[in-house]
Amino acid sequence: MRRPIIAGNWKMYKTLSESLELVENLKLSCSSVSDRDIVVCPPFMALAVVAQAIKKSVLKLGAQNLHWEKEGAFTGEVSAKMLADVGCAFVIIGHSERRQYFGETDDTVNKRTKAALAAGLTPIVCVGETLSEREANRAFEVIERQMKNGLANLSVEESQKIVIAYEPVWAIGTGKTASPEQAEEVHRFIREKFSALYGASAAAGLRILYGGSVKPDNVKSLMAQGDIDGALVGGASLKADDFAKIVKY
Ligand code: PEP
Repeated sequence: MRRPIIAGNWKMYKTLSESLELVENLKLSCSSVSDRDIVVCPPFMALAVVAQAIKKSVLKLGAQNLHWEKEGAFTGEVSAKMLADVGCAFVIIGHSERRQYFGETDDTVNKRTKAALAAGLTPIVCVGETLSEREANRAFEVIERQMKNGLANLSVEESQKIVIAYEPVWAIGTGKTASPEQAEEVHRFIREKFSALYGASAAAGLRILYGGSVKPDNVKSLMAQGDIDGALVGGASLKADDFAKIVKY
């Protein structure tokens, strides 16, 4: 039985006081939830205060990115060790916004994934096709490439520690959600490919999240699919009420 994960990607939203207000509300509304991982991913600036605020709560902390080098002259970057030190357990890697606007490639996804694992963080590795790739019937080919290259050369042990998020780019922040059947088809494909890469046992335990306009009113039907093990939530994670409803799908 795979433990579900509901993760909120706050992107570049929330000041410190707004971050604290959101997690204080989530702590109250989610305190009785114990059968799933609830992860909040604030901007780097808010990680330390949120880490303090969620100590002894059911909430876990994630970051939105990291650099693969341990330390060095890399102005503006943050290392895996720093994230672990501040209290992160998870880190999002290869989000489509980073691929689209900040030059993220499968190769840098691979470097970041290995760095996260080496520091004991759980990487949430994002894959997903654009609208034009879907319309050209290339969705599976794109996702297979992102997995093969982004997850290259992990040990079987490491492969058991990662989480994959399927985020069709056309569904992110657009209000368009993949239908549960569309999402399930891709999730099943991801599990099959993962099995070919890292074996049936790693694939059976792999948690695959769906992301793309997940809301309180569509989460239940998505989570009812056999290969959907959780959600990566953007917009709806910024409101405590909505995120709590998604958590309690
Ligand atoms: C995301 O940022 O990962 C995401 C899925 O955003 P949204 O839920 O707003 O579509």
